Amino acid sequence: MPRNLASTSEGEAVETLTRVIGRFRAPAEGPLVVSIAGIHGNEPAGIHACRRVLRALEARRPAFRGEWLALAGNVAALGRGRRFIDEDLNRIWLTERIEAASAGGRDAGGAEGREREALLGEIEAALARNSGEVHVIDLHTTSAPGSPFSVFEDALANRRLAERLPGSMVLGLEEHLQGTLIEYVGRLGHVAVGFEAGHHDDPDAAAIHELAVWRTLTAAGCLNPAAVPASVGPGPSRFGTPPRVVEILYRHGVAPSDGFVMEPGFQNMQGVKKGELMARDRSGEILAPRQGRVLMPLYQSQGSDGFFIVRERRRIWLRISTAMRRLGLGRLAPRLPGVERHPDLDDAVIVRRRAADGWIVGVLHLCGYRKLGGEPGALVMRRRREAARP
Ligand SMILES: [Zn+2]
Repeated sequence: MPRNLASTSEGEAVETLTRVIGRFRAPAEGPLVVSIAGIHGNEPAGIHACRRVLRALEARRPAFRGEWLALAGNVAALGRGRRFIDEDLNRIWLTERIEAASAGGRDAGGAEGREREALLGEIEAALARNSGEVHVIDLHTTSAPGSPFSVFEDALANRRLAERLPGSMVLGLEEHLQGTLIEYVGRLGHVAVGFEAGHHDDPDAAAIHELAVWRTLTAAGCLNPAAVPASVGPGPSRFGTPPRVVEILYRHGVAPSDGFVMEPGFQNMQGVKKGELMARDRSGEILAPRQGRVLMPLYQSQGSDGFFIVRERRRIWLRISTAMRRLGLGRLAPRLPGVERHPDLDDAVIVRRRAADGWIVGVLHLCGYRKLGGEPGALVMRRRREAARP
């Protein structure tokens, strides 16, 4: 019989939150799903969603395989309704900092260093008691309004989960941000997707998160899709017609001293023209460096991403890319013009500057390569290890 070890009641305040929002587990081995809610403390919608899913599971007791664990992210910041206390909890999942903390050294991360260690402890305990496939979904909301979307490292296993979630699929975040929870979990070899449900104050955000959690449970194989309550989430018309697949082209990073102020009125996925006024800071006007759609424009005081610009990708692109990866065509990358094998890194190539500006990077993305960084005149890209299909 599935049983829950830490249930919470309807309407319980975020202030009384504990790390484990809830857990639902079948006695038999199976997949593990971990949902993280509120890794940013001003984004409580995921907490409400997890509580609703938990109550529904307890009331209905459907046939269930494996374990679902719902964890609160930044408990200290959630209690204060702030994105973070000392630093962004979703930018400090860096191997060197985690290793330094576990080696007994005190992580200099302050409040968020302690939050990360507590969260990691719960995740590692869940990994230790389950041997099945692992899916992690990290629930967020944004400071701008707009339709929902998922963000993930473009590995095939992550795509399979994202394709089951509502809204747009955003590729390429890992090339612009380091230290996110999903990047860390992905490095451990697990499926990991971030999910953005709309504006922080959108009354539908919790219901959209709820839908995402149910869909993750079915995608992972914990639940039969027929067991999902029919009334979950808003109707599909609520999502409008945003592009299904986009790729991040550009990130405008900001520091607190920049005095960054986004121009009012931008929504997620809104079209922008090259040269359009996006924001202002101490240096003056900030113009869109290229045409595309704006994503996550920053309308709050805390945060290091001013805005992203994305472009639409046709769905056929995903299908072609899946086929190319299954065929292992990425191994032939060093034969492309301007591309050579990296002398030290396995599965990595150096793309000379002229080639890096052209179509070559697109082909390497199709083959499953991601940008690692570079030096003047050269870009380093490395091929992902794709997990075997279960
Ligand atoms: Zn967030």
